Amino acid sequence: MHELGVVFYIIRDVKAVAAENNVSKVAEVTIELGEVSGVIPEYLTDCWEWACKKEPLMVGAKLNIETMQAITFCEDCRKEYPTVQYAKICPHCGSENTYLLRGRDVNIKDITVMDKDPNDDSGDDTATMAQVDNDHNGLDISGPME
Ligand SMILES: [Zn+2]
Repeated sequence: MHELGVVFYIIRDVKAVAAENNVSKVAEVTIELGEVSGVIPEYLTDCWEWACKKEPLMVGAKLNIETMQAITFCEDCRKEYPTVQYAKICPHCGSENTYLLRGRDVNIKDITVMDKDPNDDSGDDTATMAQVDNDHNGLDISGPME
């Protein structure tokens, strides 16, 4: 179950970001899924829904999946080309001296949180949505949340 491992990886990162920002509820998570990651989006969504039910922070959180195009680099002509279309053989010069530049990974692109105090009984039922930026290397947050 490759997809389940990916889901646990995403949730672990989201939880760390939430903890740093005192977030109590996550509404949405958007990820970039590499074209050649081998992860099947439908399976990923199934695993996501199952896993989120076990995490109070994540219950009901929606997963948005964006596809990240895979790019291969040719060492002979120093050009890039789309991996899925041409695989290992460079369409510019016919070389097989190529390597995958990107497209095998999964990145958390952004996290939307529900900033609402459950003990607030003022009758104001509106939740504040906020975007939390997450850079591709890990858990750094740019800009403070309100
Ligand atoms: Zn080439």
